[in-house]
Amino acid sequence: DTIGADLDRAVAAWPDREALVDLADGRRWTYAEFGAEVDRIAGALLGSGVRKGDRVGIWAVNRAEWVLVQYATARVGAVMVTINPAYRTHELAYVLRQSGISMLFASLAHKTSDYRAMVEEARGECPELREAVYFGDPSWEEFAARPSGGLVPEPLSADEPVNIQYTSGTTGFPKGATLSHHNILNNGYFVGEMIAYTEADRICVPVPFYHCFGMVMANLAATSHGACIVIPAPSFDPAATLRAVQEERCTSLYGVPTMFIAELNLPDFAAYDLSTLRTGIMAGSPCPVEVMKRVVAEMNMTEVSICYGMTETSPVSTQTRRDDDLERRTGTVGRVLPHVEVKVVDPATGLTVPRGTAGELCTRGYGVMLGYWGEPEKTAEVVDAGRWMHTGDLAVMREDGYVQIVGRIKDMIIRGGENVYPREIEEFLYGHPKIADVQVVGIPDERYGEEILACVIPRDPADPPTPEEVAAFCEGRLAHYKVPRRVELLAEFPMTVSGKVRKVELRERYGV
Ligand code: ATP
Ligand code: MG
Repeated sequence: DTIGADLDRAVAAWPDREALVDLADGRRWTYAEFGAEVDRIAGALLGSGVRKGDRVGIWAVNRAEWVLVQYATARVGAVMVTINPAYRTHELAYVLRQSGISMLFASLAHKTSDYRAMVEEARGECPELREAVYFGDPSWEEFAARPSGGLVPEPLSADEPVNIQYTSGTTGFPKGATLSHHNILNNGYFVGEMIAYTEADRICVPVPFYHCFGMVMANLAATSHGACIVIPAPSFDPAATLRAVQEERCTSLYGVPTMFIAELNLPDFAAYDLSTLRTGIMAGSPCPVEVMKRVVAEMNMTEVSICYGMTETSPVSTQTRRDDDLERRTGTVGRVLPHVEVKVVDPATGLTVPRGTAGELCTRGYGVMLGYWGEPEKTAEVVDAGRWMHTGDLAVMREDGYVQIVGRIKDMIIRGGENVYPREIEEFLYGHPKIADVQVVGIPDERYGEEILACVIPRDPADPPTPEEVAAFCEGRLAHYKVPRRVELLAEFPMTVSGKVRKVELRERYGV
């Protein structure tokens, strides 16, 4: 179905239930109010000359208007292009031009970012951009009050593109995945089904909307089940997040692993009442077992789900289930979602490998993107003739049908001819008492081709682990070729806005 039709259903079924709460200023909407406001914004889009297929950009931190624009653009058949709020002028200009954006919605400013100034700077290079509207600014009020330009002329099909989402840029330059209503609405719906969302659920969303974790796994999962979206703050703030859970009595909390780590490490963590939590999602990058155990035990998220996916597959392909035991919840990324197929192949031959053997994960089904926007050659590199998406991730399909992610093919280290998976070493080093967080990467080495580097955030900066201590810790417990020969101490890792560590940057920094 289309996203607009799905919202109509929600408004009819749960008119008086809360749909959206923005704690930055305390505004809240019921489904009836939310539906009416989406209609008003959709009318204003039409009144502004936006037509089916036009690209409408959104470059903003989390805010209620973000969600309104998401549904309003879908309703009029426009294609919303989500732009990373961490971008600077030249990256913005690239996306504006690459996707041909005619209308842009943006934050005014946030922290050190002056979005309006950057838009004005980029404008000269982007002749197709007709108009920019800023949230929390008179330009938004003026826009929203425009008389409707009538209805969308043609009926919309669920197979039309509704969204261009750029990948996180973890491994290089982001690519614009073009997604249809069917792609993302189905995915949001099934993710919500696995968690058993109902209209009683309230989802706390500290993850950015611009990424599919926010806009699909939160927003579309919520509206397709009548649940409520709670925005704790414009960008991630661990204390604001836990306060939102407590004050809004949230039943579900989302985050990438680093967000949960930051929340668990708050000095006053124990003071928050998290007893209303039942579930949530941890996803986006490998979830350390220790962190997952604490989330279950100390945050009361006994049904918490791990999801695995990628922007190109709308995003989720596998997910743990509510009644999975701790081993499956911590040791795997769950099993395949309904209506999705998964296979693990030998990257060299393309043949499916036996269960229990590592290979490249491929997925197929309704979630696979229409393609990278304007880049058919790049699309053909990852989606084969049989419509299989080659994920670039190494995985193992277990006998029990649960999938384990071993790591990214690009991150695998080959040291002296041995394949080394950074994830395994990271999991092991988390157990060191002086290590708060750790990332393992391969750096060029004359003798072994690649050497293993552990980038460590010490628990106590005044008492960091020495390379000798790390080596001694590994002695006899890790094969010698997996022991990090080099240790670098950091205060923080270079991150993408979707919360992933950019290993590519660590390799560049230390690999010379
Ligand atoms: P880019 O493609 O631009 O380099 P990216 O791959 O990080 O960036 P996304 O589409 O946001 O962009 O992320 C998808 C990737 O995230 C997956 O291919 C996988 O490597 C990783 N990932 C997602 N969920 C998990 C998970 N639960 N466990 C391990 N890795 C995960
Ligand atoms: Mg990717």
